Amino acid sequence: MTNRKPEIAPAEYYHFIIDLLSCNDGVLPMTKVFDAIESFYGRHFSAADKRLMKLRRGSRRPKWKNNVDWAKAIGAKQGVLATVTHQKQKWLVLLEEADDFWVKKAQKKKKKRSFKKKCPKCNVWCRLGDEVCETCDHEFPPTPEKRRID
Ligand SMILES: [Zn+2]
Repeated sequence: MTNRKPEIAPAEYYHFIIDLLSCNDGVLPMTKVFDAIESFYGRHFSAADKRLMKLRRGSRRPKWKNNVDWAKAIGAKQGVLATVTHQKQKWLVLLEEADDFWVKKAQKKKKKRSFKKKCPKCNVWCRLGDEVCETCDHEFPPTPEKRRID
């Protein structure tokens, strides 16, 4: 018998994250969220979960973290979760449970506009300069060379 386990699905992480945040006043640094997920699910990770994926600027990270980002994207789309930068750290906010401080920060961020492009694979908006979609790892086609006028 082969021991080929499937990946842990984003929906599974989604429920874990909601539980985790609601037990922690609705907010945690993203690093803590990853740590909690790794210590809870780590020994169940399959080879597929551990597979290293290419990120922009040549860095790599395991597939399970990508699936966690998917879970975050699901939450953001539903208006349940938000990612906020505070003291040079990324924080994950459960909007229903967190203090006004965090909710206001999340709303402020939403208003900020920049040029965006939509990922054709997962429909999440990405920065125009992104080479790879942060959510699903889709590689965008290279942007054309800048026009030079002599
Ligand atoms: Zn994508």
